[in-house]
Amino acid sequence: MDKIAVAVDLGGTNIRVAAIDEQGNVRKKIKRPSLAKEGKEPVVRNLLSAIKEIYQAFTEKQIKGVGLGIAGAINMDKGIITQSPNFPGWEDYQIKGEIEAEFSQKIPVILENDANAAAMGERWKGAGIGINYLLCLTLGTGIGGGIIINGKLLHGADGMAGELGHITVAPDGPRCNCGNHGCLEALASATAIKREAIMALKNRPESELNSRCGGNVKAITAEMVYHSATSGDLVSLKVYQTMGKYLGIGIASLVNIFNPEMVIIGGGVSKAWDLFGPYTKKEVSKRALKPFLQRMKIVPAACGDDAGLLGAAYLIFNSTA
Ligand SMILES: [Zn+2]
Repeated sequence: MDKIAVAVDLGGTNIRVAAIDEQGNVRKKIKRPSLAKEGKEPVVRNLLSAIKEIYQAFTEKQIKGVGLGIAGAINMDKGIITQSPNFPGWEDYQIKGEIEAEFSQKIPVILENDANAAAMGERWKGAGIGINYLLCLTLGTGIGGGIIINGKLLHGADGMAGELGHITVAPDGPRCNCGNHGCLEALASATAIKREAIMALKNRPESELNSRCGGNVKAITAEMVYHSATSGDLVSLKVYQTMGKYLGIGIASLVNIFNPEMVIIGGGVSKAWDLFGPYTKKEVSKRALKPFLQRMKIVPAACGDDAGLLGAAYLIFNSTA
């Protein structure tokens, strides 16, 4: 009988839970609103019932464990969410124990940062198959990162390593959510794309993007900027060019530090890879040390939204606990 890992992506907007087999096939998947604004209890109730729904579709013997990815700082050993940007007020929450207590049979529960899980998912079934030295950047509302060294995730002294979105790429740049100025996240995320597009429109009201948003610049999304850029709007193209350049500045430093074989760019923003990727690559070749670039590749992710789920499942199948 084949084994199943229950993989969870606990996001600020949606909770996604999937049953994934040892070959990486997604056998069942459910998605529910996470109700983050309603406080901890409704989220947890929602999470546990979603896990149960997946759990009950298989026999107890088939279930190998539950792997849960969440944004933020995590204490893996204790199974504690130390702090998550999507769930304010969850400081030091013992989520692992809560999931374990819900199931009569003792099943292993692994907690992992969502971007770390995505990096592992890409290595298992996506753009980084067989790559042992791999960096993954997830470009969404924020920027997450995962560092794989010798085939394993790098966790650091407190389990928090890999927050690649918070390396400084412009010392006097815009303020980041973390309080610092000029973080990569403040210059290359969907939030940054939106902010830069709104600013650029002030001087270029004739832009196609302005009519796309009906003149209401607050309604602009990174998705709109993408569509305007693909239809040739110069303001929008410039926004992607600038964001791609900053991404390259960040990656150049990372390449010099980690000497990776591959850097994978994932998350919603990576859909626009063709628009910003060439500028990113150009900036990296300009700034990183030349010997590091000989066989290093920068590529878009291949697993889409499932990267984190696949990674969480991989961690369950390969756990020694
Ligand atoms: Zn930051």
